[in-house]
Amino acid sequence: MIDHSTIGRILDAANISDVVSEFVTLKKRGVNQLGLCPFHNEKTPSFTVSPAKGIFKCFGCGKGGNSVNFIMELEQLSYPDALRWLAKKYHIEFEEKEETQEEKLLKDERESMMIVSAFAQKYFSRYLLKENEGRTVGLSYIRERGIRDDMITKFELGFCPDGKDLFTQAAQREGYKMEFLEKTGLTIKRDDWVRDRFGGRVIFPVHNVAGRVIAFGGRTLTNDKKVAKYLNSPESEIYHKGKTLYGIYQAKRDITRLDKCYLVEGYTDVLAFHQAGIENVVASSGTSLTIEQIRLIHRFSPNITIVYDGDEAGIKASLRGIDMVLEEGINVKVLPLPSGEDPDSFARSMSASQLTQYIKEKETDFIKFKTQLLMETVENDPVSKARLINEIVRSISVIPDTITRTVYIRECSRLMDVQEAVLYSEIRKIQNKQSEDHTRKELQELQVKVSKPVVPGTEKNVANPFETEEREIIRILLKYFHQEAFEFEDEETHQLNKYSVGYYVLNELHGDGLISVNHKVRSILLAMEENLGNKEFDPIRFFTQHPDNEMSQYASNLLSEKYTESKRWSKSGAFIETESEKLYEIVPMLIKEYKLKNVKIMQDKLGQQINEASKNNDEERTRELQTQYQKLNEVINALSKLHGFRAIT
Ligand SMILES: [Zn+2]
Repeated sequence: MIDHSTIGRILDAANISDVVSEFVTLKKRGVNQLGLCPFHNEKTPSFTVSPAKGIFKCFGCGKGGNSVNFIMELEQLSYPDALRWLAKKYHIEFEEKEETQEEKLLKDERESMMIVSAFAQKYFSRYLLKENEGRTVGLSYIRERGIRDDMITKFELGFCPDGKDLFTQAAQREGYKMEFLEKTGLTIKRDDWVRDRFGGRVIFPVHNVAGRVIAFGGRTLTNDKKVAKYLNSPESEIYHKGKTLYGIYQAKRDITRLDKCYLVEGYTDVLAFHQAGIENVVASSGTSLTIEQIRLIHRFSPNITIVYDGDEAGIKASLRGIDMVLEEGINVKVLPLPSGEDPDSFARSMSASQLTQYIKEKETDFIKFKTQLLMETVENDPVSKARLINEIVRSISVIPDTITRTVYIRECSRLMDVQEAVLYSEIRKIQNKQSEDHTRKELQELQVKVSKPVVPGTEKNVANPFETEEREIIRILLKYFHQEAFEFEDEETHQLNKYSVGYYVLNELHGDGLISVNHKVRSILLAMEENLGNKEFDPIRFFTQHPDNEMSQYASNLLSEKYTESKRWSKSGAFIETESEKLYEIVPMLIKEYKLKNVKIMQDKLGQQINEASKNNDEERTRELQTQYQKLNEVINALSKLHGFRAIT
């Protein structure tokens, strides 16, 4: 662990403009600097650096944070590694805080597994190229498949000797522990025997985004139908199949550069595309596409083209993921191959320019493709056609972008010969239903929370109905913590006392016992409370430089310029330029809204309990609950009457 003060020292030295301008040309624009975003493709600059706050923000792709986050993203490093990277660059020496035993064990375990995997990859590669068995069996097979030698190097292919445990023995001789050989699945161990998982197979190492080997795929060379054609590493601490894409390390640069990613099925498909000169390609390796895999691609580009075999199973498999992908705001195209071809055989049968040409001509938009495909099956049956319309509309309704949605509706109306208005009304129905479901779910979750106190740190993925309000409260606290925006008259002495924004907000929240369901919000408020009287405390610095990366990003994002143009305030007549002058109005209003929402949700819950109680004919309980309900009504009335406070002049 690197401690807070060291992070402060590193961030002070690693000036944001300095760090960024190594990679991006920045121009001065007011108090900020502006440049072309290195994380997405753009022609007009939307990448902003604020030297005063020490943060960057891209208004195109949304990425933002401090210098450490910038390096993390750019170099694909972990948070501590990015800090070490910067420390080294700016010649800052520091001692790392002793890790807890648990942290150490987990890190050591992951690291040991990666080290064993790296050893295995080198061993398999050397065996393929240098040993007799590797060359005559493995290498000749690979060459027969038409895979070029430069691809063997690029993808670090290898061969595992065909013997019971030759690899395991070699690894143990080199000092690698059985524990990690087993945990990575390279070795299979039972009570009285040990063997290599991949014996006699051609090896395809799987790399993570940073290029480290985390798993293997092994292809058998026998024709025995009882033997699995491909064997993969089991799930482990370092390998999660559903979150990994084969080839992402070799493809990421071109995916970003060309702003597009091809998705194929297997290892050899990826190799064949690379061989044909198309390098922005990854494979989901046998699993059906997961949301995590899509997000992984989305980090580099929102444009995905799914290349699939022309057979029925291939089509069905690619249709499955569609709604999921659309929901993520990703543009999906499909590239059907002629029947009987798979991406591997197909790519190898053409020259690079032929392949590029084919793709250009044949790739179609996913929704259009789905519509055409399904239209063929319904023909003149009105019932199936109605079902089809509903299905297509469902796909369209999840697209977050309105313009894209409009384009699809026009297109589908033409293809299905249905009026646009009909499609629009269908979409509205689905959306209403969805938002109803959403509200219901939110309340249900809240009820669980009310009846069962949340254990801090366990609720990471629970939806937070107060997210908007809490973000705004924390943003205000970050910016104006010490500002004395309030004055109250002491009832006895009639003296005017001034209070800071921090004091006011924390006091208000505390007084009503409002506790956030979000662990980040809770920790931020707690740290602020601890520093209430501390004039030295600089909340912006404290939180944007927080050792917990999640925390520092949360704070940086809140502070990024465009975020702060809260619509709420411009609507209410207060302009953003005068935010700091209007705090005496804005802050109480914000707290009021937050409280009102809390009370209303409590009321909803009570309402349901009342219904239940009266259904059970429990009159006493019903009355009791109704009294509570009434009290909440009074609270709402009182809150609604509250106005702002006098300005300090
Ligand atoms: Zn960007």
